[in-house]
Amino acid sequence: MQTSETTESIRSAVREVCAKYPGEYWRDLDQRREYPEAFVKELTDLGWLAALIPEQYGGGGLGIAEASVILEEINRSGGNAGVCHAQMYIMGILLRHGSDEQKQRYLPKIASGELRLQAFGVTEPNAGSETTRIETTAVRKGDRYVINGQKIFTSRARQSDIMLLLARTTPYDELTDRTMGLSTFIVDMREAGKSIQIQPLDMMINHHTNVVFFDDLEVPAENLIGEEGKGFRYIIDSWNAERILIAAESVGDGRWFVEKAVNYANQREVFGRPIGANQGVQFPIAKAYAHIEAADQVRWKAAALFDSGQKCGPEANMAKLLASEASWEAANVCLDTHGGYGFAVEYDVERKFRESRLYMVAPINNNLVLAYLAQNVLGLPRSY
Ligand SMILES: Cc1cc2nc3c(=O)[nH]c(=O)nc-3n(C[C@H](O)[C@H](O)[C@H](O)COP(=O)(O)OP(=O)(O)OC[C@H]3O[C@@H](n4cnc5c(N)ncnc54)[C@H](O)[C@@H]3O)c2cc1C
Repeated sequence: MQTSETTESIRSAVREVCAKYPGEYWRDLDQRREYPEAFVKELTDLGWLAALIPEQYGGGGLGIAEASVILEEINRSGGNAGVCHAQMYIMGILLRHGSDEQKQRYLPKIASGELRLQAFGVTEPNAGSETTRIETTAVRKGDRYVINGQKIFTSRARQSDIMLLLARTTPYDELTDRTMGLSTFIVDMREAGKSIQIQPLDMMINHHTNVVFFDDLEVPAENLIGEEGKGFRYIIDSWNAERILIAAESVGDGRWFVEKAVNYANQREVFGRPIGANQGVQFPIAKAYAHIEAADQVRWKAAALFDSGQKCGPEANMAKLLASEASWEAANVCLDTHGGYGFAVEYDVERKFRESRLYMVAPINNNLVLAYLAQNVLGLPRSY
């Protein structure tokens, strides 16, 4: 684990907040499928979700390393940073590619919590992982774009004021470069009326995920971020930050599982001794611990490269891959250690088990991470 005065003070401050929201809080919300409003509000009010927004816009001006500690600690405490992590990183696209006017208009309000930007409309049913095949269109009409189409798995659309939307501005068949022709828009969902329909999806985890339909939604042309046609490139630019933050969340999950397993294995007695005295119980916990610590090292390497402005694609991708796999290993070990009680809701293990599994699939599937490493780092032939 990386320590510095700043990261340690962040850890203890975030831990203090999380201690007010124990397992019962998350368990209750999970059962009622409700959003953790109180937790997200407190985190926002304290400025933690604005960690990556520069100070000139009212944010914390922190690096990805410090920001990742915030999310890690939420998951490590038994909570779920997935409910609010997007508020931290979606704005990165606006920050890097938005105009000065857009940054002045939105970033201070996002930093203060007046505006929630935590919905990111990218995935579509017919395109899946092949983002360059999305079909939602944005057609320019005078000083507006008219948007029609459908997104799937759009998380927190109902808990967001604005959404970052990727839509097609040039038909796919007219492109010579398939990474072009898509554009990124700021969509104010408060003004959309019936042009946006949000249908919640019933998912394995309480992730506030939806299908979103756009029917002649009019967006002012000034809400286009950067240049028309370059939206997918802007999204690619944001991937490393996202991968590093997700890796940190997985590390947090992994540490929660290991600690929970160790405590239970020390305390539960069967056959006249703690179950943790059996190597069949302790070795898997030790192995999961080692894998979490190893993944964490790659996460810190990626974060250091990112924060010093160096290329970090391989490291950010490896960190996300290794941490999500290690936390899933720890999740299984924790469940096994608890025997039948691992399935009992009151232990929180089954909830965290479901929540941690997501990171092998979303925001990016580990197969695509492997494809990136194989093709872009190792020079193997492209599969797509
Ligand atoms: C809870 C949840 C929240 C989400 N939130 C959001 C959100 O807020 N915004 C958003 O835009 N999206 C969101 N997503 C979508 C998520 O990013 C996608 O599910 C994911 O990118 C994969 O797309 P897909 O589900 O269509 O899978 P598919 O693309 O259909 O892939 C299915 C399987 O095939 C594999 N596969 C496909 N092509 C290849 C290949 N060439 N090589 C190897 N394997 C391949 C994949 O890895 C995967 O295992 C969310 C998803 C979930 C589950």
